Amino acid sequence: MSKTCQECGGKCCRYFCFQIDEPQSYEELDDVRWYLCHEGVSVHIDEGQWYIAIQNRCKMLTEHNRCRIYEDRPLVCRGYSPDNCDHAQGDYHYDALFQTPQDLDQYAREKLGGSAYEQAKAASRAKAAGPGRQEASRASPDPGRGDRGKWERECGFNP
Ligand code: SF4
Ligand code: SF4
Repeated sequence: MSKTCQECGGKCCRYFCFQIDEPQSYEELDDVRWYLCHEGVSVHIDEGQWYIAIQNRCKMLTEHNRCRIYEDRPLVCRGYSPDNCDHAQGDYHYDALFQTPQDLDQYAREKLGGSAYEQAKAASRAKAAGPGRQEASRASPDPGRGDRGKWERECGFNP
């Protein structure tokens, strides 16, 4: 094991991360808010791409930070080394990092404007609540799934 890995303590074996679609409607953004309600989950934007990261220690990691199945480890692990890993490259600096639903709310308010975001949220919640509630929200703009183009124009989440 390299000295860098020994000092790091197996950081790359303690979470997994994959790309997700950039939200294109309030409902899609709300799905991300839901992810962020869970322990150990964060979402970040890196070079314009959205990612979800789940802190979850690999079951194959020993208490001495060794891989129990090193010779049989998955391909994604084989492609990762101190020569290219985020830890060694100091590459944990993101365009944006969200750890709670409130972090994402704040980001969306800054991107869309506070009142547009609150209107989108209220309209989507009214729609989800059923027909009786939709009537009350009819006066509000609805950037939900039914008007994706409008949301994209107003949203433009990527920094
Ligand atoms: S590959 Fe990088 S992140 Fe993984 S244990 Fe080694 S130094 Fe740490
Ligand atoms: S399989 Fe081995 S190398 Fe891959 S994440 Fe688990 S402990 Fe780390």
